[in-house]
Amino acid sequence: MNIHSPNFIDAARWTGRAYSSGWRESSEGAIAVTDPANGNSVASVGCCGKSDVARAAELARAAQKSWAKTLPAERARIFNHAADLLEQNGAELAGWIMRETGSIHPKAMIEIEHGALFIRHAATLATQPMGMFLPGMDDRTNYARRVPHGVVGVISPFNFPLVLSVRSIAAAIALGNTVVHKPDPRTPISGGVIIARIFEEAGLPEGVLHILPGGAEAGEAICSDPNIAMVSFTGSARGGAKVGEVCGRHLKRVQLELGGKNALVILDDADLDITASNAAWGAFLHQGQICMATGLILVDEKIEAGFTDRLVAKAQHLPAGDPSTHQVALGPIISDGQVQTIQAVVDDAVAKGAKLLAGGTHDGRFYAATVLSGVKPGMLAFEEEIFGPVACIATFKTDDEAVELANSSDYGLAAGVISSNLGRAMALGGQLNVGQLHINDQTVNGGPYAPFGGRGKSGNGTRVGGPADIEEFTQWQWVSIKPQATPYPF
Ligand code: NAD
Repeated sequence: MNIHSPNFIDAARWTGRAYSSGWRESSEGAIAVTDPANGNSVASVGCCGKSDVARAAELARAAQKSWAKTLPAERARIFNHAADLLEQNGAELAGWIMRETGSIHPKAMIEIEHGALFIRHAATLATQPMGMFLPGMDDRTNYARRVPHGVVGVISPFNFPLVLSVRSIAAAIALGNTVVHKPDPRTPISGGVIIARIFEEAGLPEGVLHILPGGAEAGEAICSDPNIAMVSFTGSARGGAKVGEVCGRHLKRVQLELGGKNALVILDDADLDITASNAAWGAFLHQGQICMATGLILVDEKIEAGFTDRLVAKAQHLPAGDPSTHQVALGPIISDGQVQTIQAVVDDAVAKGAKLLAGGTHDGRFYAATVLSGVKPGMLAFEEEIFGPVACIATFKTDDEAVELANSSDYGLAAGVISSNLGRAMALGGQLNVGQLHINDQTVNGGPYAPFGGRGKSGNGTRVGGPADIEEFTQWQWVSIKPQATPYPF
């Protein structure tokens, strides 16, 4: 069957609407979605508030019972169909991702490919064994089984909206939950409409997935709604702290996948050309707006000069511009406010003695690939997640000093170590306090098969993906069975 359609997205169906048991208008009017590269209007979707969340949560709770009873093979079939639809219509859908998020084409295609992989991984979750028999203390039978939480709330950010939304949505639903999802209001199409469309066409029953574009108020309503049992949040440490606080008050399980200040450690025996290429990819991909972006490059001082020259040459040859109309390496930054934040970090570093070797300027929202050397503790560029295309170089004298500098961060998401001596790289890497450690690679790596998450300000110790999904999106139930009821002393 050819499942490719020339107008799969079908904007007439959802313009000005949210997806909640069909496409419907929402309580707060509409959100105008604009292209961050040029301010052009992309589309409009429904804007949701508290009452939309309450309605959706009620409907999702009602739908959950029968969804959880749907046979695993049927759940898996719907999921694989949805993944097929995403892949088959990838060329059309990537255009929407590019316009809405400012992505270059390869990054938009990574979202399509990884989005489909996450959905296929979720299909396999539906058919996993879900329990175990327990040792008994008498003649009864005891077993423990994993059961869904009920309704899961998902809240996602703007930067990789399709993948970061679908990774939680798909795992939660495949395991028998229903979902109320709020994408970022700047990216409701990539983070919401596309997902609704593929699952709608794949035959997911009505009420199982609700997609409610909206702002922080809708997010807070998800955290406090009595019909929602768990919240899966991906976003900033500041947003995560608020979400954790509200969920705690309502005794909800909460998964927090937050920001990072990820170190790439380069040892003195590393190949300089390959390492410069790794650093450029890690620091500049999607304008550095990635939680796993290489945020701090720690290089052995013996090779700093050769490495820095190569990285600067790369930065100076990476064009920034509108990815929908030009062949560029860097697209726009998501907002003017974020451009100002990036500039403030660069200016602070220069004022405190760092050297600006490339970039450091912007043309509107197009921020040039930037290289700072001599970055030190006490500078924002050393300590803060920048979410912009800024490579921050600091040096170390010994491997122990590299470990100390890398571990001085409040975050603990990802790290990379590059060396031609595998044993040395692994010995150093093993001492880093991170959720993801990449030996002989930069820090931007993801996919459905690994448990992804961080320590410290990068999260609350939860993980999403791979073996972690069953742990996160279900809970234990102990079942004991006596052949027949027996009397007690009372
Ligand atoms: P953000 O925290 O501002 O927003 C993320 C989402 O939370 C949005 O949908 C937003 O509307 C919502 N939100 C904001 N305040 C809320 C509140 N009080 N209650 C409920 N919801 C609320 O994050 P951002 O700046 O848009 O995204 C970038 C951040 O996300 C970066 O810090 C980045 O590192 C992080 N991130 C983490 C991962 C990960 O997997 N660890 C992945 C991508 C991005």
